[in-house]
Amino acid sequence: SREIHLAARPVGLPSSDDFVVREVELSPPAEGEVLVRNDWMSVDPAMRGRMRDVLSYVAPFGVGEVMAGGAVGTVVQSRSIGLSVGDHVVHRLGWRELAVGPAEAFQRIESGDLSTSHHLGVLGMPGLTAYVGLARIAAVEPGDVVLVSAAAGAVGQVAARVARHLGAVAVVRSTGGPVKAARLTEELGYDRAIDYRAAPIEQGVRDTVPEGIDVYFDNVGGDHLRAALMHLNMHGAVALCGAVSQYNCESRPMAPDHLSLAISKRLRLQGFIVSDHDDMRDEWVDLATGWIADGSLRTPQTVYEGIDSAVDAFIGMLSGANTGKTLVRLAAD
Ligand code: NDP
Repeated sequence: SREIHLAARPVGLPSSDDFVVREVELSPPAEGEVLVRNDWMSVDPAMRGRMRDVLSYVAPFGVGEVMAGGAVGTVVQSRSIGLSVGDHVVHRLGWRELAVGPAEAFQRIESGDLSTSHHLGVLGMPGLTAYVGLARIAAVEPGDVVLVSAAAGAVGQVAARVARHLGAVAVVRSTGGPVKAARLTEELGYDRAIDYRAAPIEQGVRDTVPEGIDVYFDNVGGDHLRAALMHLNMHGAVALCGAVSQYNCESRPMAPDHLSLAISKRLRLQGFIVSDHDDMRDEWVDLATGWIADGSLRTPQTVYEGIDSAVDAFIGMLSGANTGKTLVRLAAD
């Protein structure tokens, strides 16, 4: 079975030299374990953080170890009464064709009519992140004007639908490039789009949201957070979700200037990690499943084929080549 291991800690944007594909011999499952064939692998910005040797909310990857992360697969051998051959499961054992482990490391999923890949995107961690960030952390209220950054990505693509469900009157998003900006308004339910590559983000926010922002859902940090601070209304809220503009930076920028505006405007800024909010998962999956069924939530994906394409998928996602959730398909769904 082939696996992708971390070969070196990247400096700046990762390159193919930082990864190596290894052929490994797997032991058959022991009592209580299962063997799973991966069908889909997830490509997530947080994996870039784990390539760095620093203490964070998850341990860093070791050099020479597999790139761990989300995957969906099918049980092909089982020595556990909890899982049967043919069951679809989601797990976090990462970028490998086959995974062996204790049954508790794998969570059974219902396949239904939807592709199982959605359990890595809209029905999984990224979708729940958008819901938690807007409903609980920022606590969007009816009448709010909401700004979402990296809005064409896995988390951002569902945020417009969520914000409208919570009563937002206008949902504005930022993304890179005119094609993705058009998709945001035409397909993903955003009222207005800002292309931050066409003009500085601060100008984009000023021109596009003249009434000011009530809630900012921050996936980007840096200049985007600074622009939002400048244009947030009094008593506005910020859900600090990610800082993708800084993940490839070797020296972390200091906090954005204009942070003192949080004082004069009485802003509320709160960071969060989605795994602390598992209590909202069932509620989210019910909502999202209904919206997909009635056509009010679109869920584009950017799919790469085969384990050898995982590194390209990862570098592409960090560079903005994706629309929606980035995935690697290993087996037909
Ligand atoms: P995306 O699918 O959104 O992919 C990353 C996107 O980031 C790219 O498509 C690109 O979009 C954008 N981007 C990259 N570099 C820059 C830059 N310099 N400035 C602005 N945008 C940039 O990823 P996800 O949806 O999976 O993740 C989005 C964010 O959510 C990340 O910050 C991630 O770390 C965070 N996250 C946080 C979680 C939590 O628990 N707090 C859980 C899950 C994700 P574009 O072309 O639009 O620039």
